Amino acid sequence: MGSIYESALEKFGKAADLMKLDPGIRKILEHPKRQLIVEFPVEMDDGSTEVFTGYRVQHNIALGPAKGGVRYHPNVSLDEVKSLAFWMTFKCAVMGLPYGGAKGGVKIDPKKYSKKEIERVSRRYFSEISIIVGPDKDIPAPDVNTTPDIMAWFMDTYSMNVGYSSMGVVTGKPVGLGGSQGRTEATGRGVSAVAALGAKAKGMDISKATVAIEGFGNVGQYAALLLSTEKGAKIVALSDSRGAIYNSNGFDIKELMQYKVEHGTIADYPKAESKMSNEDLKKLDVDILVPAALENSITPELAKDVKAKIIVEGANGPLAEGADEVLNEKGILIIPDILANAGGVTVSYFEWVQDLQSFFWKHEQVNEALEEMMANAFNEVWKAKEEYSTDMRTAAYIVATNRVAFATQKRGIYP
Ligand code: GLU
Repeated sequence: MGSIYESALEKFGKAADLMKLDPGIRKILEHPKRQLIVEFPVEMDDGSTEVFTGYRVQHNIALGPAKGGVRYHPNVSLDEVKSLAFWMTFKCAVMGLPYGGAKGGVKIDPKKYSKKEIERVSRRYFSEISIIVGPDKDIPAPDVNTTPDIMAWFMDTYSMNVGYSSMGVVTGKPVGLGGSQGRTEATGRGVSAVAALGAKAKGMDISKATVAIEGFGNVGQYAALLLSTEKGAKIVALSDSRGAIYNSNGFDIKELMQYKVEHGTIADYPKAESKMSNEDLKKLDVDILVPAALENSITPELAKDVKAKIIVEGANGPLAEGADEVLNEKGILIIPDILANAGGVTVSYFEWVQDLQSFFWKHEQVNEALEEMMANAFNEVWKAKEEYSTDMRTAAYIVATNRVAFATQKRGIYP
């Protein structure tokens, strides 16, 4: 398997070919605008020093300031961050947000460090990347293993350096500190919304649908909660990095979320009928499969055994190179990451707007605006899918690329 970035480019290339994209614009979009690597020391609780590696990549800023999360994970690499930044450009554009794409990461296993150590890592990382971030330049946000508390430290670190409180420099902050109502569950809410729209398009009744979800982080938890409580779907299988659990009658997600807080994992949840591997979860005969963990979770090999009728990509890049072809061939509807998990960045946009205006919205107002934007984007992508007789992923790239290409062409190439 090649790099994640090459595989991301290949998927974009399919859309670029089909829409006969101008070769100059294609070249611009194939290259990230800016890539920053930082190596920085942090003092540990025992007085020793460790050096960490961090990244911030800005892929494109034709439509506005760069936007995208920061992840903390031991496997973070430049290849991964570059790919995630690339996806953010298209994710923001498919939603019609006035943003370009960026992503950051620190190569760290956060489970191995104390809260105070994570705070020092976060503050120093943000200080290192602050030469390229700012409310008008690049606005970080949460991603894998990063929380509202970490966003508060990011915001405070930046504010201490500029000498005033700058709320708009990061999103995903706690409510009461410039955060938006509804941001925590936003990605899951978007996943639930497009899953319901996908089901409808397939003639499936979402309130009778069975669902398997890989990953019980922020996205997996809220997708499960909202699909079950608001859409009436039955969540029959769930997993985390320690394994998967199955119950044919469906799980009570609220109870499971509490169990996760208490035990740190759901793998030993006593109300499961059976346990299985993450791999087997993805092969279950369910209506909807939501991969909401990390990249490359469904290989072309595994794709052959997938029985779900709809795949909703809660994670970024969960289908490895070649998996799309196998699944498309089987007639499985894939709702792609740049659309399916765009709810998070959409409410981040609402948060940034609220911060810039110092005027905050009600929870219902946020949810309503999000649902409307998700439905509009879904419908636009669906239309492009029909028009170009293609799959949803390629259609989403076409809708997004048209917007970035328009801005790039109108602006012209400097000087
Ligand atoms: N990290 C999230 C994503 O991959 C959210 C980014 C944001 O809110 O800026 O879309």
